[in-house]
Amino acid sequence: MKLSKSLLSFACLWASTLVMAQDKVLNIYSARHYPTDEVMYSDFSKDTGIKINRVDADDAGILARLKAEGAASPADVILLVDAARLWRAEVDGLFLPIKSTKLEEAIPSNLRAKPADNGGTAWFGLSTRARVIVYDKLKFNKTDVDSYEKLADAKFKGSLCIRSGSHPYNLSLFGAMTEHLGPQKTEVWLKSLVGNMARSPKGGDTDQIKGVASGECGVAVTNTYYLARMMRSSNPADKAVTDKIGVVFPNQTSWGTHMNVAGGAVARHAKNSDNAVKFLEYLASPAAQNHFANGNNEWPAAKGVSFDNPALKAMTGGSFKSELLPISAVGMNQIKVQQMLDRVGFK
Ligand code: FE
Repeated sequence: MKLSKSLLSFACLWASTLVMAQDKVLNIYSARHYPTDEVMYSDFSKDTGIKINRVDADDAGILARLKAEGAASPADVILLVDAARLWRAEVDGLFLPIKSTKLEEAIPSNLRAKPADNGGTAWFGLSTRARVIVYDKLKFNKTDVDSYEKLADAKFKGSLCIRSGSHPYNLSLFGAMTEHLGPQKTEVWLKSLVGNMARSPKGGDTDQIKGVASGECGVAVTNTYYLARMMRSSNPADKAVTDKIGVVFPNQTSWGTHMNVAGGAVARHAKNSDNAVKFLEYLASPAAQNHFANGNNEWPAAKGVSFDNPALKAMTGGSFKSELLPISAVGMNQIKVQQMLDRVGFK
């Protein structure tokens, strides 16, 4: 009797240790390709005792993996770096809509998914990035490119450099243009962009910036953090590049500069969903939001967070008008946009 009692208590102890072990783990699939994020993961683990296992891949790779794994997926948190991809994953049922007062209070409603049937939210934007125009200061002036529409002007024939139209950053920008201009005008605009290209789309945003500095491109489109990274670099070659180019936050007198989001969600089959919510709440906290701003040169998505980033300040002069479209609407246009791109031959 005595023995079985102690066996029982050993079994209970063993079982609770197992639960504790499960409780202290969080599996993240992340498309955030920024080494400066490491400190956020380690700070969270230090504060909570929750061990983070991370799988890094690009947005498309993560979505494909989640689909292949189905209910057996070990993923708890999904971090993606674009509104169109967040929307795609939501529609494909890869996220578990959650209720979190902390997240709902911190993140403005235009930067998160529309409420799900159960009142939960499928994903939250956690940082924002502006998609801006850079230009060769020797060839053009700021007023030549103070709107996205002007990229279609004949004066830019043979001058425009931009990464692939099908890249999520561009699908989202063009999805936003479709909201503002309507599909017909957007398609005409895209056709003119193709006609103005200096070269067939290739490389990432940094390659477009360098193309302007080298003289191959007169104008280009980039996310702000790539530019800020070069502005803050100690490498003289980066400084030489940024000295040659001007930057414009387009559409200041109309709907504002296009903003994309990087965001997070709880995975549909999360085994550690409490930890997942805790982690997303941490990412919306002032400490983590400051890290997005200072570490990766993004703007905080959470309301009322102050930050100090010299490159972002230099670029904007302190403030700028940003687009206020519900970012979920931008994602919904991506199929329509891809069809337009195919029709106008935008690679
Ligand atoms: Fe990026």
